[in-house]
Amino acid sequence: MIIDGKALASELEAETRRRVERLGRRPGLATIIVGDNPASMMYVRIKHSACDRVGIRSENARLPEGTSLEEIVGTIESLNKREDVSGVLLQLPLPRGLDPSRAMAAIDPTKDVDGFHPMNMGSLLAGAEGLVPCTPKGIIWALERLGVSLEGKDAVIVGHSNVVGKPLAAMMLNRNATVSVCHVFTRDLAAHTRNAEILVVAAGVPGLIRGDMVRPGAYVFDVGINRVGDRTVGDVEFDEVVKVAAAVTPVPGGVGPLTVSTLMSQTATAAEMQMKRNGR
Ligand code: NAD
Repeated sequence: MIIDGKALASELEAETRRRVERLGRRPGLATIIVGDNPASMMYVRIKHSACDRVGIRSENARLPEGTSLEEIVGTIESLNKREDVSGVLLQLPLPRGLDPSRAMAAIDPTKDVDGFHPMNMGSLLAGAEGLVPCTPKGIIWALERLGVSLEGKDAVIVGHSNVVGKPLAAMMLNRNATVSVCHVFTRDLAAHTRNAEILVVAAGVPGLIRGDMVRPGAYVFDVGINRVGDRTVGDVEFDEVVKVAAAVTPVPGGVGPLTVSTLMSQTATAAEMQMKRNGR
């Protein structure tokens, strides 16, 4: 089976649209781009169109290359104060020399729709999932929707970034899977991946996972986004793996749309949390 990320994402968006309508007030997502990275501008455009589809207001603060960390923090702080802004998202990467973790820590944790604030990451690790990173949350949501329980399963994650691998490992442990996290220093990658009933690959290496590295009947999520010539490919050798796995996500059209629709869902969650806190 090919996991249709776009179809799952539109289900999640429909759910979010209903939650937004119930709120009775339009949530707002404020994005910040520093510099003129074309990929960042494309990602922000995709996020804003998703906002339009679910009824979330969106705005973007475009800061020039050369903006200091203090100025970025200043922009974040003014967005933190605004009642019409439910979510604040700093689009990464930042220009060279700017430490994203310092900027990220300035976001009000209740508006941290990307889930990277150390407080939200800490809560996730402690088993209390509030606002969490969108890519891993989207994968968890898709597994639930596909009726695949994590309890007792052998799950293997390739990649240990703060954005994908580490938070996903915590989410899977919270659901009682047995989790292995592999990375560039892992000695025998295939020995691990062959054991996976659920395999998630987020390495950024095209063709890293071949058919003979996958356990028959596994669920495979390919997070990788790589440009090879004029094509966008994942980290999984799709044509080989689709013959072995029970189900696999394509690239494009798999994990990407799930990530964006999860961001919408989390913006609605943030708005709900803020309204509750403010007693409305
Ligand atoms: P990163 O560069 O921060 O981390 C890469 C990870 O892969 C590291 O843990 C590294 O040790 C590991 N790795 C690299 N080469 C390896 C190898 N040969 N064998 C085993 N492990 C290896 O990456 P990231 O930010 O987590 O992103 C990973 C990929 O996922 C990229 O292609 C990125 O574009 C993509 N991505 C996609 C989405 C989405 O929504 N679809 C979201 C985030 C990231």
